[in-house]
Amino acid sequence: MPLSIIIILIVVVIILSVRLKTLRREYELTMISAHHTRDKYHSQLSEVNRQQQLLIDVLGEAFFIVNDELEVLMANARASQILRNQPLVGRTLQDILINKKLLQSLDHMVRDKKPSQQRIVFPPKSTVLGSSELDGETAWLIQTAPLPSLSDHPPTCIILRDITTEYRSDQIRTDFVTNASHELRTPLTIINGYLENLLESDLVESPETTKKFLAIMRKHGARLARLIDDMLMISRLESGESITLNPEPFDFKECLEDVIERLELPIRTNNTSIIRKLPEHAVELDGDRFYWTQVLFNLIENAIKQNPNRELEITVSAKMIDEHRLRVRICDNGIGIPSSHLPFIFKRFYRVDKHHTQSDIRGTGLGLSIVKRALEAHGATIQATSTPGESTCFTIETPLIPPISTADHGA
Ligand code: ADP
Repeated sequence: MPLSIIIILIVVVIILSVRLKTLRREYELTMISAHHTRDKYHSQLSEVNRQQQLLIDVLGEAFFIVNDELEVLMANARASQILRNQPLVGRTLQDILINKKLLQSLDHMVRDKKPSQQRIVFPPKSTVLGSSELDGETAWLIQTAPLPSLSDHPPTCIILRDITTEYRSDQIRTDFVTNASHELRTPLTIINGYLENLLESDLVESPETTKKFLAIMRKHGARLARLIDDMLMISRLESGESITLNPEPFDFKECLEDVIERLELPIRTNNTSIIRKLPEHAVELDGDRFYWTQVLFNLIENAIKQNPNRELEITVSAKMIDEHRLRVRICDNGIGIPSSHLPFIFKRFYRVDKHHTQSDIRGTGLGLSIVKRALEAHGATIQATSTPGESTCFTIETPLIPPISTADHGA
């Protein structure tokens, strides 16, 4: 091979190898930049995911995104919290939720592929997890909506909201209306019955019978008025946090004497003795005297009312627990309250003896619930103890000055 050709070949090889080196360098630079870009996108993606998670974590409700098999693709902090911090992502709801009723509803709603919502009430001792230590029913609102997606099987977002508090207060309101209507209807029916009798027969001719009928009607009219007064008072006491107390300093002993004076007639008629065990000096309380009068009146009146045919002793005692707190006890030696009834006596409309005749009208069943709510508004507590056939005692423990949060509202 002539030398010139060899030289040309060597030159070509040198040029090619230089070119190859340049290309390799360019390739390496491109790869480095691609890695950089990938890392950049990767960290941007992680940041977006982190922000998305933070965003759904601030939701107060449990939030999940699931696929058609109910596999959890995403869940927020509240969801893990109500499900006792189990790992959720990657598991199916069938695996996580034990409650069959909830699962069936969720399965149906997710398959439906339409935004929907449903309220589920769990019986006492069961929750989304299957069981719990909670007493009473719990209620949940489930909302589902398919997420916008190009796929035929878009994931679905599920929101589980605990609406137990709203549900319970709705229940209380409904029960109150039902009980109140029932209580109001009884005396009204009786009054109407007597009115019809008077109008339709010739009884008006007989002044004696007319007088008797009118007296009965007046008694039931008075009961209606008492019911309405009690209902108004309880609704005022239960009107949320804004109970209107008008606190002022007053002497507890004076307030007690006012009550005893107001109850003078039944005390005398029933041959009741009131025994006072009180400090010599004035017992100054800061509170709403109107409600304190109501509390003492209801407790002493109850003792008299529940024991019409026995010589009754009611002992009212007051003693300082420490320099800030007073203990008041109102005890009687009457028929007592069976222990099976004791846990319920502070509930509205609860009466131990549910039957009353027309001549023997019992209370409204609201007295003790008024007592309890009024005391709670003063930061005080009340407890009842009883030995049937021997005694009943109501023990109140109250701060001398009610805490600001309870007494200051609207004063
Ligand atoms: P009522 O208006 O019927 O008196 P309360 O809420 O004041 O309603 O009392 C609820 C029930 O508690 C009463 O029906 C009564 O059976 C019982 N009770 C309350 N105080 C006494 C008491 N001193 N002795 C016996 N039973 C009582």
